[in-house]
Amino acid sequence: MALAAAFGLTACSDSPEAESTTSDFSATPIAIVIHGGAGTITRESMSAEGEAQFNAALELALDIGYEILEEGGSSTDAVIAAIQSMEDNPLFNAGKGAVYTYEGGHELDASIMHGGTRNAGAVAGVGRVKSPIELARSVMENSRHVMLSGVGAEQFAREQGLTMVHNSYFNTEHRFEQLQNAIRNLQSNSENNDARVIAATEHTNPMFNMGTVGAVALDIEGNLVAGTSTGGMTAKQYGRVGDSPIIGAGTWADNASCAVSATGHGEYFIRYHVAADICNRVKYLGETITEAGEQVIHETLLPAGGTGGVIILDAAGNVSMPFNTEGMYRGYKTSKAGKEIAIYRE
Ligand code: ASP
Repeated sequence: MALAAAFGLTACSDSPEAESTTSDFSATPIAIVIHGGAGTITRESMSAEGEAQFNAALELALDIGYEILEEGGSSTDAVIAAIQSMEDNPLFNAGKGAVYTYEGGHELDASIMHGGTRNAGAVAGVGRVKSPIELARSVMENSRHVMLSGVGAEQFAREQGLTMVHNSYFNTEHRFEQLQNAIRNLQSNSENNDARVIAATEHTNPMFNMGTVGAVALDIEGNLVAGTSTGGMTAKQYGRVGDSPIIGAGTWADNASCAVSATGHGEYFIRYHVAADICNRVKYLGETITEAGEQVIHETLLPAGGTGGVIILDAAGNVSMPFNTEGMYRGYKTSKAGKEIAIYRE
């Protein structure tokens, strides 16, 4: 039951007992949960090779993050390491492999939040920093600010000695093809044939929005940390920023409730303040993370037209991963419940 609930299966995920059944194996649980994006990911549309590649990439990220926690490392280090392994993998829409903007470049967003200190760092619209999540961490730890954007964020990255790259470093053939398809799609759907005008609103085709990565972790000190990194949405217009770098929308952590990283149609996640809303339901209404996640993802977001999902972790090491799309690349590794990786709804 706990496993099914964690994997977002509606029949089980609203069962609070599902969470408590795995609660008492360890007095000081450690855990990491990751996602690699949500969308129309079906068994039928996935090749055996593709499935194996995604499973391997998710497993690697989980193992890297968990090893840090197991050795007594911090949840911040675990989240950063897990996300960086996915940023470096062209399969995901983050770092290398980020989607293209309408103009044919890459503008990346990332954020991180510490649930103990409530400190946070975020970057938006950066195109020359190899690891946007590392830059978000530097903003959190080494600046007076929470969010930096564009050229200013890149200047800060240089000052911090982070690895800088040319924007073309993020290029990949499959994302370029996706851009061409998106532009064709936008043009054929446009009454006035002005694709630039409708590019910002035509996000419902899931082809446009898969592969954002995120991680939430709980360390031996009981600290929850959440992080998210993305290239945003294919064919996004000039300067568009999604939910991933918005603290409270795409990323949230509070030791008193939970840690959340989101993936999906960012405009909705911003308007519904999804990540913080889930944790606030836990905090103020006393809901379990499973109840809160189900409510927000299925009962609030979906009727409004918002598609996507979240990973949620609480301070007891309970995991929930609800989504309202056909699939979400996801997995967890915890001291209480072991390791699981999944892609499809069932
Ligand atoms: N949430 C991201 C954004 O809107 C996209 C995604 O998660 O696929 O930029």
